[in-house]
Amino acid sequence: MADEQRFPSPIDLHTHSSVSDGTQTPAELVEAAKDAGLGTVALTDHDSTGGWAEAAGAAARAGIRLIPGMELSTRYDGWKSVHMLAYLFDPDDAAITAETARIRRARLTRAEAIVQKLSVDYGLTWDDVLAHTTPGASIGRPHIADALVSNGIVDSRSAAFETLLHPAGGYYQQLYAPTPLEGVALIAGAGGVAVLAHPVTYGRKNALPESYFAQLIDAGLAGLEIDHRENTEDGKAYLRELARRYDLIVTGSSDYHGAGKPNRLGENTTSVESLERIVAAASGSRPI
Ligand code: AMP
Ligand code: FE
Ligand code: FE
Ligand code: ZN
Repeated sequence: MADEQRFPSPIDLHTHSSVSDGTQTPAELVEAAKDAGLGTVALTDHDSTGGWAEAAGAAARAGIRLIPGMELSTRYDGWKSVHMLAYLFDPDDAAITAETARIRRARLTRAEAIVQKLSVDYGLTWDDVLAHTTPGASIGRPHIADALVSNGIVDSRSAAFETLLHPAGGYYQQLYAPTPLEGVALIAGAGGVAVLAHPVTYGRKNALPESYFAQLIDAGLAGLEIDHRENTEDGKAYLRELARRYDLIVTGSSDYHGAGKPNRLGENTTSVESLERIVAAASGSRPI
């Protein structure tokens, strides 16, 4: 489809496939997006563009638009996990591919360390976890959660996150990640558009300091994901104010993970105008 054509709504710009911690293959995810009535969907696997080609083929067949993307892991001040959505960057850019490869290697080592500790108390093995991943996937706690569920140790992914996999659960290990400032620079340097994912999941008081937002914006941060089920209402009001003040792009999305989370495709959506701003600002790759 030609770029000049307006993107069909509804537009959902945040989803995960089995290339990271979603439960459907990229093609199945695109099919599910079509079935859910979406006109445009972005694939944003954690720290990987491994699903782009398969999703592009499926989108062309299904007749829906695809925005290639990624959710980059970053960490602020040494402890706070900050996710950064990256749209339409060059997937072959040397700096961003080197950094995401480093994060995926760290994900593997870190998951092995968590499983090692869980093996002592619960007999969980690395093979149990591998059985819930696809080769080359960005591995994370959701895969460990699936193994814990299979072994009858917890009832659901959510229960695993509330107990054994919680940072205070006794088995947690931190993940290596660049700083948010480094993340924005990598995305912008690769011709992409950076949008801060679910920035107020624990409320306004847990958001990044405004002085740091300002630094991110100076470095090229283009937008904020405001309509997301985990953003609190007081936090959303604050983000809307920030977006107005700094003329940021506002998005809304589901953060769909297939059967891995209750989030449903299209439960939050993005306006055509916002997506057009993202596409206009991008120079690394084109929408499908
Ligand atoms: P990790 O990247 O290994 O630190 O794990 C974080 C990932 O786990 C996030 O990307 C979420 O998608 C997922 N996650 C967090 N909380 C939950 C939950 N309660 N249920 C299912 N998945 C979750
Ligand atoms: Fe996830
Ligand atoms: Fe996230
Ligand atoms: Zn996500």
